[in-house]
Amino acid sequence: MWSVSLSKFRTRFAPSPTGLLHLGHAASARAVWEAAARAGGEVLLRIEDIDTTRCRPEFTDAIYEDLRWLGFEWPEPVRVQSEHFADYASVVEALEARGLAYRCFRTRAEIAAQTPAGQVFTSAPLSLAEEQARLDAGEVFAWRLSLAACQAALGAAYHELSFQLETEAGLETRRADPGLHGDIVIARKDSPSAYHIAATHDDALQGMTHIIRGQDLADAPHIQILLQVLMDWPQPIYHHHALLMGPDGKRLSKSHGSISLAELRQDGKTPDDIWAMIGLQ
Ligand code: GLU
Repeated sequence: MWSVSLSKFRTRFAPSPTGLLHLGHAASARAVWEAAARAGGEVLLRIEDIDTTRCRPEFTDAIYEDLRWLGFEWPEPVRVQSEHFADYASVVEALEARGLAYRCFRTRAEIAAQTPAGQVFTSAPLSLAEEQARLDAGEVFAWRLSLAACQAALGAAYHELSFQLETEAGLETRRADPGLHGDIVIARKDSPSAYHIAATHDDALQGMTHIIRGQDLADAPHIQILLQVLMDWPQPIYHHHALLMGPDGKRLSKSHGSISLAELRQDGKTPDDIWAMIGLQ
């Protein structure tokens, strides 16, 4: 499947412990571990639990248990993102220090009201005086990455951003369009980091050569590549595997009533039954 052969192929499985793993996660984990096995590489398990309002330690424990039960192995220690907020804060600080981030005082509700459906958020930073007035008034804010500032900083290189995508047809170079994401939030009061910052930081720190994840994250490289260029991090090769669909043709997830692996195990199912249920041997 991989058209490049790298001696140090390394990828990761990076679930968020917001609930119990279900069949879709099992299929995704298979895609990741099989790709690594074919390439003679390794898979690191990473727990992406920076959203402290939605993630719970018991779900982290359940991830370890379910994955071991399915027969997957990974090196220890596992990187648990909630133990490394200082690392992600330093990335945010570096971006702020370079004038690439700005404070956004709009609430989520205001942004939803001001952004037409299907469009992404971009906004001009406030004047220094207005920003100071709002800070003095104790208003909360989020840090956002300014695409306009990134564009100014990178010049022509911004328009030439691209990433490597492994598809059925082989390795392709895709032009990146960070604008798909608008000015992403990189930190906010109730959560000192955000997904793209933590994930790309850790992918670089952990030496990931390949990022294998579901089609639901197919747009992520468009912004992650920008962060990699800004932070001078290596650029991994991306692959997006097809998502497991339910009988109703919709994506399998908790909201569509997919049964958890833990429940299936309690019902007496074996790992082989799980693979048969998702059409894999
Ligand atoms: N933690 C993310 C999720 O569970 C995966 C992120 C990634 O693979 O980059 O959807």
